[in-house]
Amino acid sequence: MSTEEDGSVLLASSEAVVGWLRKTSFWPLTMGLACCAIEMISYGGPRHDAARWGHEVFRASPRQADLMIVSGRLSQKMAPVVRQLYDQMPNPKWVISMGACASSGGIFNNYAIVQGVDHIVPVDYYLPGCPPNPDQLIDAVFKLRSDIQHYPLLGDMKRKQEREEAAALVA
Ligand code: SF4
Repeated sequence: MSTEEDGSVLLASSEAVVGWLRKTSFWPLTMGLACCAIEMISYGGPRHDAARWGHEVFRASPRQADLMIVSGRLSQKMAPVVRQLYDQMPNPKWVISMGACASSGGIFNNYAIVQGVDHIVPVDYYLPGCPPNPDQLIDAVFKLRSDIQHYPLLGDMKRKQEREEAAALVA
């Protein structure tokens, strides 16, 4: 609740305020796995300018990040590393699977590539394409923002915990 100078009163639930704060302060992890990463990098550059919405500060440390964008194919060798990075990110945190390879292995239907990163980490949003362009990534981030705004706080954490446990079982 806040009181304006003109005497009007603004009411909001704590969930709505927390949701608004969360959705407007993504700190993505600096992590690129393959060709899709080039499009993700462009998302943060001057042409697409993620700074307009406060998402441009890609963090080098997972301990300072709350959004993992898995951009590209994930090899079996890299899988434990990606899971460790995810585990090192503080809660609450979110994952976007960017591109066909990240979501399903794409054209790499073979033993060396994980056939979907949701075998390793819980995914909040799947972005199709080969590669998806930066505009599609912007769209995905905004859809994620919209979801986060409306997550019930306790329900959100319970849901995340269940999905993390499921992914850990598969990993
Ligand atoms: Fe590369 Fe296409 Fe796979 Fe993205 S989806 S990593 S662009 S092959």
